[in-house]
Amino acid sequence: MAYRPFYPVKIPLSPTFDTDTGDLPLDEYRARAKELVDWIAEYLGHPERYPVLPPLHPGETRAALAAEPPDDAEPLARILDDFNREIVPRLTHWNHPGFLAYFANTASVPGILGEMLATALNTNAMLWRTGPAAAELEQLTTDWVRQLIGLQPGWFGVITDLASTSTLYALAAAREADPALDIRRKGLAGRDLPALRVYCSDQAHSSVHKAAMTLGIGSDNVVNVESDAEFRMIPAALDAAISRDRAAGHRPIAVVGVLGTTSSTSVDPLAAIADICEREHLWFHVDAAYAGVAGAVPELRHHFDGVDRADSLVVNPHKWLFTPMDCSVFLVRRPEPLKRAFSLVASYLETAEQDAVVNYMDYGFQLGHRFRALKLWMVLRAFGARGIAARIRHHCALAAEFAGWVRAEPGWTIEAPHPFSVVCFRHGAGEDDATVNARNAAILDRVNTSGEVFLSHTVLKGRYVIRVAVGNLRTERKHLHRAWMLLKEAAASV
Ligand SMILES: *Cc1c(COP(=O)(O)O)cnc(C)c1O
Repeated sequence: MAYRPFYPVKIPLSPTFDTDTGDLPLDEYRARAKELVDWIAEYLGHPERYPVLPPLHPGETRAALAAEPPDDAEPLARILDDFNREIVPRLTHWNHPGFLAYFANTASVPGILGEMLATALNTNAMLWRTGPAAAELEQLTTDWVRQLIGLQPGWFGVITDLASTSTLYALAAAREADPALDIRRKGLAGRDLPALRVYCSDQAHSSVHKAAMTLGIGSDNVVNVESDAEFRMIPAALDAAISRDRAAGHRPIAVVGVLGTTSSTSVDPLAAIADICEREHLWFHVDAAYAGVAGAVPELRHHFDGVDRADSLVVNPHKWLFTPMDCSVFLVRRPEPLKRAFSLVASYLETAEQDAVVNYMDYGFQLGHRFRALKLWMVLRAFGARGIAARIRHHCALAAEFAGWVRAEPGWTIEAPHPFSVVCFRHGAGEDDATVNARNAAILDRVNTSGEVFLSHTVLKGRYVIRVAVGNLRTERKHLHRAWMLLKEAAASV
């Protein structure tokens, strides 16, 4: 007997409602989708139509939209109209070539198409059998990323949403690496356990602390090891901190080394850290969220010395690998501790093949697993390793040229080495730090009100610096040049 839907048959919710399926009719889908494909092409083709950072007050968007959900179905045309009028102009445009803040990134054409298809398929690869090709494509693409960035074979890959999650997984696995602690079962509180200690430099990302907070390790047990004048962890300081902690009865479990810090993109001495981790039997996690992709460029591979001795590594294709949000690749040497940390198979999730396949629910705290591998696979194929390397190299060259302008201009200084595509700099010298810091904050504010470019800042050892990050495929020399003109104008007037 043919399937007969029982619900909307007699309730015409809208003239366009499909009474057979409950969804909108496919003719409507085709018509709107074609418009949206053109809309996206227009958007990508004219990214400067909107200010990159719109001048807004908090609450404006919400006030412009209906406060209550609609009782009756609304036509898509009206919804899209509101999207165009009320939403798009009130967004900060990450795909704008003048976006030079944080880590600039790109939703590229193959990535957008991959995301469209993943959405239509709505695959949930929590188990191998709920998405066989998705699960296997994830193993394949994470191994492609491993090869792309020049790592030796022998890693297991999981795609998570964000580097914050990947680093949380690394520390969860490190916590479980010694089964004798049995934290998974007994927890950390109310028992006789030493403090678990995690080490990273004072330049490491806040996600290390957040992971420690979440995992019950506690942020006070993340030891911020001192960094040198070029913002790299000092191995002797790491050594000393570990000895001190052991003498105090603490239990060191992991070190996070950073390949490309968030503030200045400095690279910790990974080989020296690997030596210490091996000697001390500590989990070594490498946070390469942004700069990991630089491994695709042979002349940048020297930054990766020691990475192959890590226990785990994270690199975000949604940062510098032209893949739309979100997509974080977590590579782990031995998947067993990760599985020990997270696997819990409810009876309704048991399958006959479970010992022969990868069920991604076993390698994280979430059950559902989005099909992120599809867009990544499409990006990697559509650009190719050589194409990716050329783009990364070009971004580094643009950043180096920008740094050259800054260096040559009296009154301006480069504030950190720039091994990749990010430059930290500031204006003014000879005054006290507080004055110079305030002046640079004012310069940045003024430049960002232009709507033409968006820059961000950081603080390096107490010094407020402005940051320019190149990472969008459509950013050209002229955008950097415009940013530089705006910076010089602002410096002359604040
Ligand atoms: C951006 C960044 C992160 C956090 O990335 P999310 O994917 O937003 O969680 C972590 N570490 C480093 C070094 C980063 O640059």
